[in-house]
This record gives sequence, C-alpha cells and structure tokens, in this order.
Amino acid sequence: MKVEEKVALCAIKHHPESHIQIDLDKCANCQIQPCLGACPAGLYTLEPETNRVIVDHTGCLECGTCLLVCPLGAIDWRLPEPGFGIRYRYG
Ligand code: SF4
Repeated sequence: MKVEEKVALCAIKHHPESHIQIDLDKCANCQIQPCLGACPAGLYTLEPETNRVIVDHTGCLECGTCLLVCPLGAIDWRLPEPGFGIRYRYG
C-alpha cells in the first residue's frame, strides 16, 4: 500500500483558521527553504505571484517536520484546537 493510500484512510476535520503561521519577514531571508521539500503532505508551496512560501493547513498530518526543519524559526506551528485536525485510523 502506498503512503498516499494510507493517508487517505485518515479523517481530517479542518478548522477554518490555520494552526500554522509563517513569519514572512524571517522567511524572506531563507536561502534553502527546506519546508518546501520536507513536508510529507506537500503542503508548502511558492505562491506564483509573489514567490513567497505559503502553506495549506487543511491536509496537515501533524508530524511537526516543518517546525523542525525551518532554519530561521519562521514557522509557528501548534496543534489544531481539540476536535479538529487529523484522526489516524490506527491511533
Ligand atoms: Fe506538513 Fe507535517 Fe508541517 Fe503538517 S506538521 S505542514 S504535515 S510538515
């Protein structure tokens, strides 16, 4: 079974407000932008018009990888509010 198929078994209840915030001033000084490749869900992308990093919180697997790999501490990541976020099928 592929990872994508396993993830599809999980349920995610989206909160309307993102639990991930990016400090754009810090982010603008990042030369390597590891968040773009490190997120297993591929939620970090570059906004075409501005070339700034954006994140779609709605598919977050709550692994915390983005928080760890950001070299400038530009990512403020918190668990979603109780009742929201991912519910793993097997705990
Ligand atoms: Fe991606 Fe994991 Fe960060 Fe969620 S916590 S945005 S899945 S790297």
